[in-house]
Amino acid sequence: MSYKNFPMVPRVIFGRGSFNQLNDILEPKRLNSKAPFIFLVDDVFKGNAWLTSRVPLSYDDRIIFISANEEPKTSQVDALVEDIILTTKERPSGIIGIGGGTLLDLAKAVAIMLTNEGEAKDYQGWDLVKNEAIYHVGIPTISGTGAEVSRTTVLTGPEKKLGINSDYTPFDQVVLDSELTKDVPKAQWFYTGMDCFIHCVESLEGSYLNAFSQSYGEKAYDLCKEIFLNGTLDETEAQEKLMMASWHGGMSIAYSQVGIAHAMSYGLAYLLGTKHGIGNCIVFDHLEEFYPEGVKLFKEMKEKHNISLPQGLCANLTDADFNILVNIAYGLEPLWENALGKNWKTIMTPGKLISLYKKM
Ligand code: NAD
Ligand code: ZN
Repeated sequence: MSYKNFPMVPRVIFGRGSFNQLNDILEPKRLNSKAPFIFLVDDVFKGNAWLTSRVPLSYDDRIIFISANEEPKTSQVDALVEDIILTTKERPSGIIGIGGGTLLDLAKAVAIMLTNEGEAKDYQGWDLVKNEAIYHVGIPTISGTGAEVSRTTVLTGPEKKLGINSDYTPFDQVVLDSELTKDVPKAQWFYTGMDCFIHCVESLEGSYLNAFSQSYGEKAYDLCKEIFLNGTLDETEAQEKLMMASWHGGMSIAYSQVGIAHAMSYGLAYLLGTKHGIGNCIVFDHLEEFYPEGVKLFKEMKEKHNISLPQGLCANLTDADFNILVNIAYGLEPLWENALGKNWKTIMTPGKLISLYKKM
């Protein structure tokens, strides 16, 4: 047995208001006055002086606002990298992503593609990146995906939705300031938070589970119950705890895998553009056969927070569409093996998979 030797985020600052220390964190990392810091910021913060006035800009540093309405694409990463190369005098000192999973993944991918030749799609897969990325920093403004700790950046390419999984992907620095999450709309708070809960269920119920993953997964699972079910926390506490649940949920899957909800929601994302958080919720809602306890709790949380999920997503799909869904989901073999064991194909036949999609 050969064990994987994973990198972790080497530096993290945690605390309400810690975003104010960004200048102190970045300045020692500036290579020279011609090598700027590039801030990739969710465009939901455009015109929001509370946040943008605290982004420390000097010399040629600049902010690029990016919409999170669609999940990141390989072509988008390539275009950003080209723009940065053309408009900077020297290779940047660093890339700083400020936003949710979408912006965090873009920042990781851009940092990698600034030092690696070719196109982002060439690196979708496992351990294909050759050169170390430039210095990159992740600052989440919504909690749940675990993208701030993970070793992947999930991108939709011309042929597949798949991460760039590599030792160079994790951030060099993460800033966890829960105050940045204070204005997240309620439904989105639930969907992205449930991404974390589903990470925990899929990791804890999976065949790849080990003590490393379990210790993180159980902590995040308990935090999610406290946040989404018990309802005794004040807002600040709940925001801080969800930030740490996201972190632990991400750490839990680092050494195991996710499962059925993720495999199926990748299909929905690829075919219909359904976003990760809500897509996972739509799928997970129908997986009581596989995750009875997790789905029961999920339904309680959904009810407690008055969340109604879209219905009939797959109602008008053609046979060709269902084939695409099956192909994308089936391609994620480790997720199925983790969920159902080595003989997963005898349990999750294409017919069974389609019958599940038809419920959604
Ligand atoms: P997101 O980044 O797509 O953002 C969701 C919505 O919330 C957007 O409309 C955004 O503008 C808004 N938003 C974010 N912060 C806000 C704030 N503070 N105030 C108001 N609005 C705010 O959502 P997400 O669920 O965090 O990320 C989903 C993405 O993460 C997907 O692309 C998915 O593939 C990826 N992902 C990556 C990993 C990983 O390990 N790399 C893991 C899971 C998911
Ligand atoms: Zn997820």
